[in-house]
Amino acid sequence: MRKLDNIGQLFVISAPSGVGKTTLIRRLQSSRNDLCFSVSATTRAPRPGEIEGRDYCFLSREEFVRDIRADRFLEWAHVHGEYYGTARAPIETWLQEGQDVILDIDVQGARQVRCAFPPAHTIFILPPSIDTLRERLQARRTESAEKIAGRLIVARKELAEAAWYDFIIVNDDLEEAVADLAAILRACHCKMAFQASKVRPFLRSISDI
Ligand code: ADP
Ligand code: 5GP
Repeated sequence: MRKLDNIGQLFVISAPSGVGKTTLIRRLQSSRNDLCFSVSATTRAPRPGEIEGRDYCFLSREEFVRDIRADRFLEWAHVHGEYYGTARAPIETWLQEGQDVILDIDVQGARQVRCAFPPAHTIFILPPSIDTLRERLQARRTESAEKIAGRLIVARKELAEAAWYDFIIVNDDLEEAVADLAAILRACHCKMAFQASKVRPFLRSISDI
């Protein structure tokens, strides 16, 4: 088994746009300041209020393609007509330092991360219903009606991928969904693969009896 005891854990969160990933992750981060959030690169335009380096690294298409060619991404994908990608270097550093890392990425990116790093834990967030998802996208007021319609079409395809994720959370009541997310992170730390160094001394001491 690969030695995982001393490295951080990687959590991959996916959901159709508007389900509430950003809201959930921000809430979790406000109660756990030891969580590292990977800020993605994207070619989409910043929304009002979004800050370079906090919400995304906003790149031109030329810059993004240059970074693909230089193998700087752990994963990247074409989503809603734009490029999105996760920089490889900070993730590797954080995990080696023993810090937990959260990625908010789409289903294509999640598949790539699972292949590149099988111990990653995958979490899919469901909306209570498609109607609620539409209402949340409309209430957020960050996309035009045309873009919202496009995101809902993509959402149907993404929802079909939920079945292969390790964990499912329904983001209906926000407090409950945040509690579910925190519980999943905690439970993952108790998995055998990450606790072997604690079990081994007991096995050795038993063999001496
Ligand atoms: P995503 O990051 O998945 O695209 P956001 O976090 O931006 O989604 O959430 C989309 C909208 O839904 C925001 O306006 C947010 O305030 C709202 N929202 C998120 N979770 C809930 C919830 N549990 N109940 C009601 N509204 C929510
Ligand atoms: P938004 O434009 O609403 O911020 O994000 C649109 C979609 O892109 C969401 O599903 C989000 O999870 C996904 N996304 C954000 N960053 C990345 C990334 O680095 N890689 C991939 N593959 N998808 C991402």
